Amino acid sequence: MALIVQKFGGTSLSDPERILNVAERISAEKMKGNDCVVVVSAMGKTTDQLISLAKDVSNQVNKREMDMLLSTGEQVTIALLSMALSQNGWEAASFTGWQAGIITEPVHGNARILNIHTEKIREQLNKGKIVIVAGFQGVTEDGEITTLGRGGSDTTAVALSTALKASKCDIYTDVTGVYTTDPRHVKEAQKLAAISYDEMLELAHLGAGVLHPRAVEFAKNHNVTLEVRSSIEKERGTIIKEEVTMEQNLVVRGVAFEDEITRVTVFGLPNCLTSLSTIFSTLAKNNIDVDIIIQSMTSKEITDISFSIKNDTLKETLNVLEKNKDLLKYDHIESETGLAKVSIVGSGMVSNPGVAAEMFTVLSNNGIEIRMVSTSEIKISTVVNQQQMLPAVNALHKAFKLSAIPIRS
Ligand code: ASP
Ligand code: MG
Repeated sequence: MALIVQKFGGTSLSDPERILNVAERISAEKMKGNDCVVVVSAMGKTTDQLISLAKDVSNQVNKREMDMLLSTGEQVTIALLSMALSQNGWEAASFTGWQAGIITEPVHGNARILNIHTEKIREQLNKGKIVIVAGFQGVTEDGEITTLGRGGSDTTAVALSTALKASKCDIYTDVTGVYTTDPRHVKEAQKLAAISYDEMLELAHLGAGVLHPRAVEFAKNHNVTLEVRSSIEKERGTIIKEEVTMEQNLVVRGVAFEDEITRVTVFGLPNCLTSLSTIFSTLAKNNIDVDIIIQSMTSKEITDISFSIKNDTLKETLNVLEKNKDLLKYDHIESETGLAKVSIVGSGMVSNPGVAAEMFTVLSNNGIEIRMVSTSEIKISTVVNQQQMLPAVNALHKAFKLSAIPIRS
């Protein structure tokens, strides 16, 4: 008999009918003779609604009380799902994060899981019950309720899989797996049979919303094999694990994209040792999230710095730079909005020189101007004009032969 952890997201549980559907998916697993631990998110858009309620009563949200509020979302789902399972003739027991022994660091809103005391869950499993655990929440050593950050139920599922030494962790969601690119925008997008942790991490950071990046990191560190699959369709999903054999020797496994990017250029900074550290620590202190950074030397004494941010942080960024002009000693600032980031990801790049060259050639052949570039071992990101984002994605998807991956289900 195997122990399976199954996680169901909010969209898969958004109404009574879907909750009954999820109960059926769990029944099917239980029927195979497996022990089941189920992790759930709050129903539908509940978490968003709770956040907006909090903002309606206060414009200075207290983080402790926010966790108290948000943790109720998942508590509703665990109870309803447990009831739906008894309706199907199964014995189930629901647990909040603290009841399930999920201990976190004492941080509100974005806590990390430190440890899980699994005795209570084991006890219920030994009685043959299905255990249902509220995702996204835990408790500190002092008994304070915490939450793990938006999308954190994935992390709960992976952490429970590790603590319980589960043989499988299935992440059920509203898509059928991880795709080579967003199928809503590129009709040739293909579902991947498998992807490595590192590739998935890059894609998750690049905005592929299908998995929480912290959950992928946790899975990588503890070697938990994940499968992302649909809660409605019965087909196989995408396996996420350490090593993945390259399909048809593909170097690139996915194309990711994100719009609403702005480039800010700070002209005429003194070219001294501390220039870079001063400007980026000033931005960091003000919680401004900077992505790609490019430095260009205009002379021995003077340097220019460009960096990319999300559109909605431009006003704040300009404010901070303006306020610190005396400290930073720059000449002037220019910014350009209406940009987008297009990236290719694949572990095959490590041993394949010339991938960047090929990417740039494809873009230039399609008349797409590259405004900024950044690379990691397994990723190349370019910033282009927003209007050219989808043409760029389509061209790259085609050039790196991602439409040709054989679908294995
Ligand atoms: N309910 C939480 C959220 O909406 C956690 C989750 O869904 O994973 O972010
Ligand atoms: Mg999610």
